Amino acid sequence: MHRNWSDHIKLLLLGIALLLAVGLLVGQPGWVLAGGLGAYLISVLWQLKRLYQWVHSPDFDDEPPRAFGLWGDLFETLFRAQQVQLRAQDRMQALINRVQESTNTLRDAVIMTDANGVLEWWNLAAEQLLGFRRGSDQGQLIYNLIRTPAFKHYFEAKQYRDLLEIPSPSRAQLRLQIQINLFGEDDRLIIVRDVTRLHQLEQMRRDFVSNVSHEMRTPLTVISGYLETMVEYADQFPPRWQRPLNTMAQQAQRMEALIADLILLAKLETGEREVHTRTTDVPALLKAIRDDATALSGDRKHQISLVCDSQQSLLGDDHQLRSAFSNLIFNAVKYTPAGGEIQIRWFVDSEGAHLSVRDNGIGIDPVHIPRLTERFYRADPSRHKETGGTGLGLAIVKHVLLNHDGRLEIRSTPGAGSEFICHFPSQRLTEETEETEAETVLANSPESRQ
Ligand code: ADP
Repeated sequence: MHRNWSDHIKLLLLGIALLLAVGLLVGQPGWVLAGGLGAYLISVLWQLKRLYQWVHSPDFDDEPPRAFGLWGDLFETLFRAQQVQLRAQDRMQALINRVQESTNTLRDAVIMTDANGVLEWWNLAAEQLLGFRRGSDQGQLIYNLIRTPAFKHYFEAKQYRDLLEIPSPSRAQLRLQIQINLFGEDDRLIIVRDVTRLHQLEQMRRDFVSNVSHEMRTPLTVISGYLETMVEYADQFPPRWQRPLNTMAQQAQRMEALIADLILLAKLETGEREVHTRTTDVPALLKAIRDDATALSGDRKHQISLVCDSQQSLLGDDHQLRSAFSNLIFNAVKYTPAGGEIQIRWFVDSEGAHLSVRDNGIGIDPVHIPRLTERFYRADPSRHKETGGTGLGLAIVKHVLLNHDGRLEIRSTPGAGSEFICHFPSQRLTEETEETEAETVLANSPESRQ
């Protein structure tokens, strides 16, 4: 029977009163009380010993020792609390087992680490895709097992919006896509997906485009070579042939430009890059492109200005950078009416290096801006015949910038003009060259033509 605390106290007081009464009866109240309390103390110590032994015995979850009164209550209450806890523990364990079983059926690897990258838990797929070993790898640092530097960089940077693709550390033929999610106190939940098939298809597409472009280049060079000669001797052909000949020569040239851009894009994508070892003297490169832009502008007499606030060079491949920068600058010439202004500016600030190409040309409707760097995307398809563009220019710019850890920003107002800005991180800047003064050169302006 379960009693409450005051019942126990009442019983104790009753016992003491009884002892006193018996003591008074026998004429020795002090001795009888002391003897009774002593016996009570011994019984308390004995029950305490039983409690201690029960709590520390391996059969703790078995029945508690039999006892009466306060001690019986205490044993019973402890036993019940312990049973409730055991049942909750069983339920939790069952839930954990179920979650583990279900994650083990996943084809994607799921890994949990703490904020420092110490491995805490992973599923079966992690063992198959990454070669983790149950037991021995527990508590290891994840980047000791996935040694690709890009992974460590990605893990530590905490910028997980974009996914990372790396080869598998245990099976080199596998291509894995990594996605990291933060939870708790900067702990990481890492999902790894096998994207080998997708990667192979992508590779096949690239190879196909690259092979077709290379194969088409030779016959096209022959055709356009003959066409050029025929255009040169056009007066020897009947007059009705002259227009078709000119059109054919123009279209052959466009196709050559298209093939050249496709080959360049394929190269940029397949990682034929020397962007970490070479340096490019950007001011000198921009001067050369500015001169080409002046030639392209020709009779349309654009005001092309070049300002280099910094003479620092950029760590990167000059061929790739030339393609990117000239695409932006030539676009400004193409999409700006005659006499328009084009400002090219190379500058460095706390965020890195920047190339801005600004024009006051036709501008671009904001709806098109997010898609401009897609291949063959044109804001105004009717206009590309006039400009003779390939539709690949901005896709090339995007890839070159990706290879150089940069990004492209596009600002534009229809009818007022556009600004294309290439942003490069400060780490890409190298030692300054001897000239350090800012320089302004105006091309096609009255001063420069003197
Ligand atoms: P294209 O060969 O057609 O110029 P790009 O990829 O270089 O191809 O450019 C994509 C589209 O972006 C162009 O067709 C044009 O509509 C738009 N565009 C690019 N640069 C400018 C600019 N400076 N002003 C206005 N529109 C531009």
